[in-house]
Amino acid sequence: MMEAMSPTASRDRLLGDLDDEQREAVLAPRGPVCVLAGAGTGKTRTITRRIAHLVTAGHVAPGQVLAVTFTQRAAGEMRGRLRALGGDEAGASTAAVQAQTFHAAARRQLSYFWPRVVGTTDWQLMDSKFAVVAQAANRAGLPTGTDNVRDLAGEIEWAKASLITPEGYPQAVADVGRDIPFDAAKVAAVYGNYESLKSRRNDVMLLDFDDLLLHTAAAIENDPAVAQEFRDRYRCFVVDEYQDVTPLQQRVLDAWLGGRDDLTVVGDANQTIYSFTGASPRYLLDFSRRFPDAAVVRLERDYRSTPQVVSLANRVIAAARGRMAGSRLHLVGQRPPGPDPVFKEYPDEVAEATAVARSIAKLVESGTAASEIAVLYRINAQSEVYEEALTEAGIAFQVRGGEGFFSRQEIRQALLALQRLAERGLQDTADSLPEFVRAALEPLGLTAEPPPGAQARDRWEALVALAELVDDEVAQRPQLDLHGLLAELRQRADSRHPPVVQGVTLASLHAAKGLEWDAVFLVGLADGTLPISHALAHGPDSEPVEEERRLLYVGVTRARVHLTLSWALARKPGGRQGRRPSRFLNGIAPQSQRDDGPSKPRKPRGPAPRCRVCNAALTSPPAIMLRRCETCPSDIDEQLLADLKDWRLRIAKEMNVPAYVVFTDNTLIAIAESLPSDDAALVAIPGIGARKLEQFGPDVLALVKGRQKS
Ligand code: ATP
Ligand code: MG
Repeated sequence: MMEAMSPTASRDRLLGDLDDEQREAVLAPRGPVCVLAGAGTGKTRTITRRIAHLVTAGHVAPGQVLAVTFTQRAAGEMRGRLRALGGDEAGASTAAVQAQTFHAAARRQLSYFWPRVVGTTDWQLMDSKFAVVAQAANRAGLPTGTDNVRDLAGEIEWAKASLITPEGYPQAVADVGRDIPFDAAKVAAVYGNYESLKSRRNDVMLLDFDDLLLHTAAAIENDPAVAQEFRDRYRCFVVDEYQDVTPLQQRVLDAWLGGRDDLTVVGDANQTIYSFTGASPRYLLDFSRRFPDAAVVRLERDYRSTPQVVSLANRVIAAARGRMAGSRLHLVGQRPPGPDPVFKEYPDEVAEATAVARSIAKLVESGTAASEIAVLYRINAQSEVYEEALTEAGIAFQVRGGEGFFSRQEIRQALLALQRLAERGLQDTADSLPEFVRAALEPLGLTAEPPPGAQARDRWEALVALAELVDDEVAQRPQLDLHGLLAELRQRADSRHPPVVQGVTLASLHAAKGLEWDAVFLVGLADGTLPISHALAHGPDSEPVEEERRLLYVGVTRARVHLTLSWALARKPGGRQGRRPSRFLNGIAPQSQRDDGPSKPRKPRGPAPRCRVCNAALTSPPAIMLRRCETCPSDIDEQLLADLKDWRLRIAKEMNVPAYVVFTDNTLIAIAESLPSDDAALVAIPGIGARKLEQFGPDVLALVKGRQKS
C-alpha cells in the first residue's frame, strides 16, 4: 500500500511548480473563479490543480465535482492530468472526479432521470441525424443530395446550439448575416419537419446530441425533485475552454448550478474559432458582470513556446479588433530562447510543399521526432500537395481530422467515373486530357464557381485540387492518355502509406486547437486562403475576418520551438503569380523572403488570359473557362443557353454519350456569353479545339446566328 503524504508535502506537490497567479486561482475559496489567459499559460494545468486542491484539502468530495469540456480529447486530457496527480490517497480520490464532455455528462444524467420525467415512452440516441434530415428536406421540397443534407443538418445543429426555434430561424439568420445554402424559410421548414419526425416514431422518442442537452436542462428546470436530487449530488463545477460554450450548453450549466455560484471557468476569447457552430465567448467575457464577487485571474506567462514564437503570437493578435480583442493579454515567453520564426515565399504550391518536406527531413535528421512536427493549413483540400511531397521524401505522416486526399469520397468517386469513361474508350471525343477530366468531374460538383454550403464547397475544393493535379501530370507528360493518367493517379494513391501514429501530423488549423508540437509549419498563408475568401466577402473589417485572424493566432501558438510560415504566389508551377501573402502578415513578415525553392521544371506558357469584362489577368480554372472573373457580371443570353442545352441533349443522345462529353456547362455558358460569330471566335473559347470545331462548329454558329436575328 502506498504511504500517505503529509498534508504539507501534498500541498507542496500541488502548488510547488505553479507561478503566483496560477496559485492564486488554485487557492481561491469555493465560489466563482474566472481564469482569462492566452495560449500556453497553463490554464488546463491550473484547473486540474484547483480540483485536486479542493479535494485534498477536504473542501469538496471528489464525487461532487463535475468538470466539463467540449471534446472527447480534451476530456481525456483532463482525466489523464487528474490521474497523474494521484500517487497518494488524495491523488487516488482526485481520479474519482468526473471529467466529461457536456454531451456525455448530459447523457448519463438523462438515462438516470428519464423514467421519472417522461414515464414509459423510451428514448433512443440517433447515431446520425442524416436519414431524418433527408426525409424532412424531402417534405419541404428541397433536394436530398448528400451535401445538401449535411449542410441542412449543420444549420439545425447551429440553431439548436443557439437556442433558436424553427419559427425564429429566419430572423436569427438575418440578424447575424449567416451564410446559408438555401432560402431561410425553407431551412426553417426542414428544421420543423425534422423535429416532428423525430418525436413521432412508434413508442420510441428519437433524440439527437443536442436533445440530450435540451432534455437534461428541461428535466432539472421543470421538476423540483429532479433538481433537488441532482444538486445534492454535484456541488462544484469546472469548465475548460469556456470561450467555446454555446447558449444551449450554458443553459445546461445554469440548470446544474441552480442559482449557486461554485463555478470555475478558464478560457481565451482570442482562441474563439468555432463561432460558426454557435460557440460564443460572451459568457466568458461577461463572467465577472454576472458574478460580481468572482475571483478573476489573468495569466501572462507562456510556458509552451520560446520567446521568439511568443513575440510573433503577440504581434499577430495585437491587430485584432472587436470585443474579444479587448480581453487579450501580452504573453511573456518563459522558455529559453530558440530560433526566430521563418517566413518563406514560393513561386507555387508544389515548390512550397517540396521545401517544407525538405525542412522536415532535416529536422528529423537532427533529432526531432516526426511525431513532434506538424503541418497546419486552412482547408482540408490543401493536404494533397503535402501528402505527395512527404510521400516522395519518404516521411511518414498522418492526416488528422480528415482522411487522406485519395480516401475522400468525392475523389474515389471521381477516379471511378474516369475509370468507367476509360473503359468505354470515350476520351477520343475530347480535345485535351485536362479538359476531358474537368468535364467528367462537372457532374460530381466541379462547377465554375464555388457552390453555396460548407459541405459542397469542401467537396468542390477537393475536385479542383484533383483537376489541378491532372494539369500537372499532363504538363510533365504531354503524351499521357486517360489510361496512363489513371495508372499515375492510382500509383500515387497506393504509395501513400497507411496512417501511422508516429508520423508528421497534417491537420487543419481547426483540428490543431489545444495541441502542441516542437516544430510547426503554417502553410498556404496567402490572402484569400487565410483569411479565406468567403470570410472576406463579409468585408475586410468583419467578424468572420477577425475569426480568421484568431485561427492564425491558434496556429502560431501550437509551436514550442520551430515555426515556419509560408505561402505561394501561384497555385501551380508556371501559373500566374497573382497571390499575395496573408494580410495578417503585413508589417510582420520581413519584406524579402522569396525562395524559388526546389521547384520542378516548368513549361513556358503564353500570356495569362484576361477578363473580357474588367481586363484583369485570370488565374482560376473556372475563370479562364468563362473568360471573365467569377465575380464580374455575366452578360449571358439565357435563351441561347437554353437552346444550346437542348441541342446538346439531342446530340448526346444521338452519339450515345453523356452530355458533358459534347460540351461542358461551362463551355456552353462561355458560348452564350461571348456569342462567337465565326470559327476563330469559337476556338478561342476554352474547351473547343480543332476536333470539336469540326464536329459541332456549324451547329453552334447556326444557333448563335439564329438568336441574333430574332
Ligand atoms: P491552451 O490555451 O493552448 O489550451 P493552456 O493555457 O491550457 O493552453 P497548458 O496546456 O495548461 O496551457 O500548459 C501549456 C504547457 O506549459 C504545458 O506543457 C504545461 O505543462 C506547461 N506549464 C504550465 N504551467 C507551468 C508552470 N508554472 N511551470 C512550468 N510549466 C508549466
Ligand atoms: Mg488548455
